[in-house]
Amino acid sequence: MVKRQFKAESKKLLDLMINSIYTNKEIFLRELISNASDALDKLSYESLTNKKLKMDKKKLGIKISIDKEKRLLTISDNGIGMDKDELAENLGTIAKSGSLAFKEALEKKNNTNIIGQFGVGFYSSFMVADKVVVESKKAGSQDAYKWVSTGADGYEITPIDKEENGTKITLHIKENEKEENYDDYLEDFKVQSLIKKYSDYIRYPIKMDTIDEETKKVTETDAINSMVPLWKKNKKKIKEEEYFNFYQDKFFDYAKPLKVIHTSAEGLVSYDALMFIPANPPYDFYTKEYKKGLELYSNGVLIMGKCEDLLPDYLNFVKGVVDSPDLSLNISREMLQQNRQLKIIAKNIEKKILKELTNMLDNERDKYEAFFKTFGVNIKYGVYDNYGAKKDDLKDLIIFYSSKEKKNVTLKEYVSRMGKDDDTIYYACGETIDKIDMMPQVESLKEKKKEVLYLTDYVDEFVLKMLDKYEDKKFVNISSNDFDLSSEEEKETLKKKNEEAKEMFDYMKKELGNEVSQIRFTNKLKKHPLCLTSEGNITAQMQKVINAMPTDEHIDAKLVLEINEEHPIAKKIEDLYKNDKDTLKKYTKILYDEARLIEGLPVENPTELSNLVCEFLSK
Ligand code: ADP
Repeated sequence: MVKRQFKAESKKLLDLMINSIYTNKEIFLRELISNASDALDKLSYESLTNKKLKMDKKKLGIKISIDKEKRLLTISDNGIGMDKDELAENLGTIAKSGSLAFKEALEKKNNTNIIGQFGVGFYSSFMVADKVVVESKKAGSQDAYKWVSTGADGYEITPIDKEENGTKITLHIKENEKEENYDDYLEDFKVQSLIKKYSDYIRYPIKMDTIDEETKKVTETDAINSMVPLWKKNKKKIKEEEYFNFYQDKFFDYAKPLKVIHTSAEGLVSYDALMFIPANPPYDFYTKEYKKGLELYSNGVLIMGKCEDLLPDYLNFVKGVVDSPDLSLNISREMLQQNRQLKIIAKNIEKKILKELTNMLDNERDKYEAFFKTFGVNIKYGVYDNYGAKKDDLKDLIIFYSSKEKKNVTLKEYVSRMGKDDDTIYYACGETIDKIDMMPQVESLKEKKKEVLYLTDYVDEFVLKMLDKYEDKKFVNISSNDFDLSSEEEKETLKKKNEEAKEMFDYMKKELGNEVSQIRFTNKLKKHPLCLTSEGNITAQMQKVINAMPTDEHIDAKLVLEINEEHPIAKKIEDLYKNDKDTLKKYTKILYDEARLIEGLPVENPTELSNLVCEFLSK
């Protein structure tokens, strides 16, 4: 008999299991039962179309038995089974999503503490067994095979006789070790409690053969699991731990979800939905491979692993299951998309999630802040996606840092603090809260006791542009031209002064090429010497974002260099214009670069700037 070798990556995982220092070894049973349940699902699903696979649905089930003396724990199912190739392929390689996720995380983090965050599948049997035997007969086939392995040195496959289709897995339970009491897994009560704990909602009966020690008489128990899926149970009777176990088992996340949303509806369309908002983004969330979607069931039978149509793109982080008796079992993907019931369910689910988020914002602010830190970009994306179709539903879920409150506030909260006659919501953009806080324009507004929202996310300004207004209040970027709080008289004086200086500014502008559309004096800067503002719809920040995108699109904001008329520098440049135009050219370059730096924009030629500054410093 030739011994076959495990594929390299499987061997790595297997080694980890065998030498596992992981304490939560008991999950192996959950994994094997879950595989058995999948195999039963597959059989009942296939039998819908394959008339040869006739079977009695009532007889589908999982059986567990213990032989204490021989130290054997057996898990059998009468599901789809595996043929020879499948035994080699499925058990010799890492196949399933869970194991695959595990493998990838393993490669990324290169540590072993992550076992248990994932459904590690069949190999977890090697955490408790030193030999594993899998006997299987594929439904509809005459042949049966046995797969035997004692671990990393490979496995053998031989033909056997087996009457019933399905799979029987025999674990040779390890001897007790100092730290580990493997005998536990040979105790009826222990195994029963594990079934209850981890596999209660499995929809097929899990029965046990119990042996009377004296008479050796074998009796079969009733189903140990309640067989009701968690989402169909009465909410009030579900413990938090059950939700968590279910979530961890299904979605391979070790962290408690931030929010559990369990809801059901009856009427036009009936459904149960159990959804989770994760605390952290899934490990592959930011990769192309990540796919949104909820598991879709029809009356407890899985139709689709990830039904994308149930979630709008911006809620792609939500995990969960939806079960509706109104959907036909063998509905095709294409038909699902057109399905009216499904559309109604999706709409209701979206509403429900947004309602829960609103509740969280109103009643559990800290939690919401944590949520927003992780998934806020999603909500913002939702505002401008589809040309703003959802903006009204989402506008109250956005929070920004406020100069006044020194924490995140909603637009509603901002507006509630506004004066009666105020019609403007002020905002400033920058890389960080600290940097914005030091912007000249922000300082002058703070002195006027105005509240300013600090926008630090690259999408923020696009979001406000999409909203356009909030409760009739317009948004104004305080780095833009529209922003002017001075009196008519002040405006008039300034206008005059700028007219007088027009010739000088034109001269300076020429020096900067077409970089700025205007240079002028301003009266809004208090003690700061200068700032950069923009004219029209495109601000300096938006220009930065759009031009950083990997497209051919390139836009230019109309930038305005503003110089504080009361600052000594104003007088200085006027002197230079009269007496030393060459030096004014250099000043112009420095002033413009400084203004760019304050706005968080790159300077075109830092070396030139540095040389110029040093030239003047050395004088
Ligand atoms: P998975 O996470 O995919 O279940 P496993 O390592 O647990 O990964 O199992 C690998 C594959 O082996 C499964 O996807 C399935 O195809 C097959 N398999 C495991 N257990 C059974 C079983 N009891 N009956 C039929 N096929 C099984």
